[in-house]
Amino acid sequence: MPIAEIISVGTELLFGEIVDSNAAFLTRELGARGVTLHRKTVVGDNLDRLRAAIELALGRADLLLLGGGLGPTDDDLTREAIAAALNETPQEDGAQLSHLRGLFEARGRVMPDTNRKQAWLIPSAEALPNPVGTAPGWFVRTTWQGQPRLIAALPGPPREMRRMWAEQVLPRLPLPSAALEHVTIHTQGIGESLIAERLGHLTRQANPSVATYARLTGVDVRVAASASTPEDARERLTPVLTEVRALLREWTWGEDDQTLAGTVQAALAGRTLGVIEAGSAGVLCTLLAEQPGFLDAAVTQDHRRLITLGLTPVTLQGDGLVSEAGARELAAGAREHLGADLGLAVVVSTGGEQAGRAHVALSDGAQVAVAGVNWPGDPAQLRERAAVAALALAARTLPGWTA
Ligand code: ATP
Ligand code: MG
Repeated sequence: MPIAEIISVGTELLFGEIVDSNAAFLTRELGARGVTLHRKTVVGDNLDRLRAAIELALGRADLLLLGGGLGPTDDDLTREAIAAALNETPQEDGAQLSHLRGLFEARGRVMPDTNRKQAWLIPSAEALPNPVGTAPGWFVRTTWQGQPRLIAALPGPPREMRRMWAEQVLPRLPLPSAALEHVTIHTQGIGESLIAERLGHLTRQANPSVATYARLTGVDVRVAASASTPEDARERLTPVLTEVRALLREWTWGEDDQTLAGTVQAALAGRTLGVIEAGSAGVLCTLLAEQPGFLDAAVTQDHRRLITLGLTPVTLQGDGLVSEAGARELAAGAREHLGADLGLAVVVSTGGEQAGRAHVALSDGAQVAVAGVNWPGDPAQLRERAAVAALALAARTLPGWTA
């Protein structure tokens, strides 16, 4: 298994003015191809520090990916730093220079002299064409302390970087013939540590690996296996996947590309859903509306309106709006007053003493299912969590309620 490192170059990345989405992309790409990533480094536009980072990485990794710093200006220093680390001298490459000049001439412009360094090459580097920008990349084959090393220097703009990675870098990499198979199970209503406890020893093995990730929609569990062929990887994956699915069945709402709203949509099986939200500022409706084919109107929190939608003044004065009774009444009201087959309601308190409390309910006229959440967070988190709890309740309950 080759070992890789990524160095992202740019002061704006270092200071967080832009998010390093290039490194995230490359990380996924490497992982999917069986390359082990050991480190990501972010370095500002500084020649000495960039050079030092390159030297360190070459001492540890077989493959070094550099992103950014290939532009024409003085603070674009990636070429200079690679040359310095390898102790090679850049030379203007005739073919690159005329290609670059041609790009400018095609737009009726004269190439500024500052761009000439984009035509540089060092003896161990090959230029990688950039069909969507000016800066060519570099692909370097070299050795470091007697060990073979590969360096790919890619442009910073994500569009240029992705295209060059796919079309120019990947075909040049001696990738392991490993195949990776994976399935991600989406759960709701169970915490990450409880899941880890349930999965027990499974999370401590390497192949297949079982890993948990906390997401807004609940905890995701990824089961992955690698082998030399996709069939072998599948075969390795299957028994562990079956075990994990069984252990988490109760909380699972979907797998891989499925969305919670999509799961609800499928479970509705053509039935209509009326939705009332109180306190969640339309997040539930937004989640549903983002699902292709779903549309519903959000109702703002207005007690008079909520009362006409089914909330009783008794509940409002007694338990209060944010209560199980409140959610039940609004779910029934959503169904009745919005003329739907089913009603789904969420009530959440995002401020004051009750902040963090949420209740959700689903009604089909004859039956009501309810769930509650009570967990601290900032208002945006609380709204989102409450909305997700409503969707999860619907996803869990609907399959058992036949039309
Ligand atoms: P240019 O020729 O455009 O100067 P470059 O190769 O020198 O390209 P940078 O100057 O480092 O690249 O970055 C150019 C732009 O690309 C940045 O302003 C930013 O918008 C985007 N960019 C750079 N690096 C990243 C990254 N790691 N993740 C996301 N976007 C990035
Ligand atoms: Mg630049």
